[in-house]
Amino acid sequence: MNNFFFKLKTSENKARRGELQTAHGAIQTPAFMPVGTAATVKAVKISDVKKSGAEIILGNTYHLMLRPGADLIEQLGGLHKFSGWDGPILTDSGGFQVMSLSKIRKISDEGVEFSSHLDGSKFFLTPEKSIEIQHKLGSDITMIFDECVEFPASYEQAQDAMRRSILWAERSKSAFQKRDGYGIFGIMQGSTFSDLREISSKKLIEIGFDGYAVGGLAVGEGQEEMFKVLDYSVDFLPENKPRYLMGVGKPSDIVGAVARGIDMFDCVIPTRSGRTGQAFTMNGAINIRNAKYRDDAKPLDEKCACYACQNHSRAYLHHLVKANEILGSMLLSEHNIFHYQDLMKEIRKNIEEKKFTNFVKTFFQKDAPEEILVE
Ligand SMILES: [Zn+2]
Repeated sequence: MNNFFFKLKTSENKARRGELQTAHGAIQTPAFMPVGTAATVKAVKISDVKKSGAEIILGNTYHLMLRPGADLIEQLGGLHKFSGWDGPILTDSGGFQVMSLSKIRKISDEGVEFSSHLDGSKFFLTPEKSIEIQHKLGSDITMIFDECVEFPASYEQAQDAMRRSILWAERSKSAFQKRDGYGIFGIMQGSTFSDLREISSKKLIEIGFDGYAVGGLAVGEGQEEMFKVLDYSVDFLPENKPRYLMGVGKPSDIVGAVARGIDMFDCVIPTRSGRTGQAFTMNGAINIRNAKYRDDAKPLDEKCACYACQNHSRAYLHHLVKANEILGSMLLSEHNIFHYQDLMKEIRKNIEEKKFTNFVKTFFQKDAPEEILVE
């Protein structure tokens, strides 16, 4: 019996419409995973995340191991029970956050030594430890522990990190305890070098994973470079497994990446933008702080089913954000979570109806008002 599998339903050019079955239910792909870093999608109640149509959320090993600790979460029944989310959960391995957030670090083939960004206490994270933590959390999808290099990286840096990530991929796979309905994904590295991306993919496929992530992107290379890397990298990955682009992105990044064969995404943009007064609509992003919304009686987006759009005007949201009311952050974050799910529904529908190529063309013909986004 295997209750963790990916089914490709249909495709249009490189864009794919699929379904991923896990222990906690199925995910329709292309899918966007709201980020619940510290066992919460920031400022959004889990019941509202559910209402948005999201089928899977992401948790973070690094944050949860520091606070409140994986043992405590395990003792309280795992991350599903602890957070109140009963659908599938994917957990990041902590590799990226150790590199980007922790204070002191020493990286060797053995693992990473770092000091917590919270209180300076020392930790040593290894592939085995990361997989053990993700097991304690009860993740439906475990990610391998990897080393992500900054952008730009020299060829030598990218090669060294890729080599180490393969070593860690093998150890991550060995440490992973197989259970029905649970899977582990490999992460391709290699920065912006096509030969490194190819070697990384080949080795990961040899080890064998339930899905493959493209790592090391969305680290400041910009959309054009990211699309360039995806143009050749995605072809190195197997057809019959899900493909996940980590940490991406803005709506246009997602649309462009789906067109290049990506199935899964996660990003803090919808919630982080919500906390800074940015709202996404089908006509682009708006900055609700702008004075022109002071007396605007329209909802954020007439087609959106979220609570804010059903009950409040742009003028009210403008007032809340200007007055630094917490409710402003909550309503905008919830709206953005809904918007991202609506976008994914549109993408899936267009692939099913073989209209996606046209959808992409129209999407990129629009002005790019999302450029105003504060990241
Ligand atoms: Zn809305």
